[in-house]
Amino acid sequence: METVDVLGAPVACLTLAEAARTVAGFVREGRPRQVITLNPEYLYRAQSEPELMEILHRADLVTADGVGIVWAARRAGNPVPERVAGIDLLLRLAAEAGMHRWRVFLLGAAPGVAEAAGRELAARYPGLTVAGTHHGYFRPEEELAVIAKVRQSRADLLFVALGAPRQEIWAARHLEALNVPVVMGVGGSLDVLAGRVRRAPAWLRRLHLEWLGRLLMDPKRWRRQLVLPKFALLVIRRYR
Ligand code: UDP
Repeated sequence: METVDVLGAPVACLTLAEAARTVAGFVREGRPRQVITLNPEYLYRAQSEPELMEILHRADLVTADGVGIVWAARRAGNPVPERVAGIDLLLRLAAEAGMHRWRVFLLGAAPGVAEAAGRELAARYPGLTVAGTHHGYFRPEEELAVIAKVRQSRADLLFVALGAPRQEIWAARHLEALNVPVVMGVGGSLDVLAGRVRRAPAWLRRLHLEWLGRLLMDPKRWRRQLVLPKFALLVIRRYR
C-alpha cells in the first residue's frame, strides 16, 4: 500500500472506498491489525510524544481523517485523494459486515451508548452481528475483564471509542491480547450512531467545515481546537 509522509507519519494514499476494501482484506486475513484515522490533533501531539508517533508507524493502516491532514499532505507535495473520516470508514465497514455476516464489537462511550449504536448498526445493515458491547468508563482493574470479553466475543471488527489518542494507545497496547482481526479507534462515532450527538450537516462537511460544525454544536471543543492553528503553522513552516 502506498503511503506518503506527513510530518513524519505514514498516511495511506487511499480513497474511502479503497480504505474500506483494504480493511475488509485485513478481516479476511485474520491476524490482529490496527487501523488509525489520523486527525491533526493527534499528529500535532505526535511531534513531541514519541509513543504516539511509534503507534502510527506500527499501525497497519493510517488514513487522513480531517481536512487538516489532507491539506498538510498536499502542501508536503504528497497529496492523498480525499479525507477518510472515522465515522465514514466505520459505516462502510458496517455495510461490509452486513454483506459478509461479520461480527462487530463496540467498546466505549457512556453506559448504554454502545448498545444503542449496535442496535442502529444491526438495523441499518442486516447480516451484521453485534458480537458484544462495553462502555468506555472502566477502571484499570476492570481492564483485563474487558479484554477477555472482547476476545471471547470472536469479533471480526472492534471499534474503540475512548477518544483520541487514548483509544489508539489502548488498541496498540492490547492488540495481540484482543485477538480481533481489525481494531480501529472511532472517537465520538458511537455517540453519533446512538443519536446522542449530531454530525455537522452535509453542506458544512462539503465546505470542509465539519470542525466548525462540531465547534458550534459543542462549544467546549474550542480548547481542543486550539491546536489546529498551531498545526497549520507547523505545516506551513515545514513545507514552505
Ligand atoms: N470516552 C470514553 N471513556 C473515557 C473518555 C471518553 O468512553 O474515559 C468516550 C466519550 O464518551 C466519547 C468518545 O470517547 O464517546 C470521545 O469522543 P470525542 O468526540 O471526544 O473524540 P474524537 O472523535 O474527537 O476523537
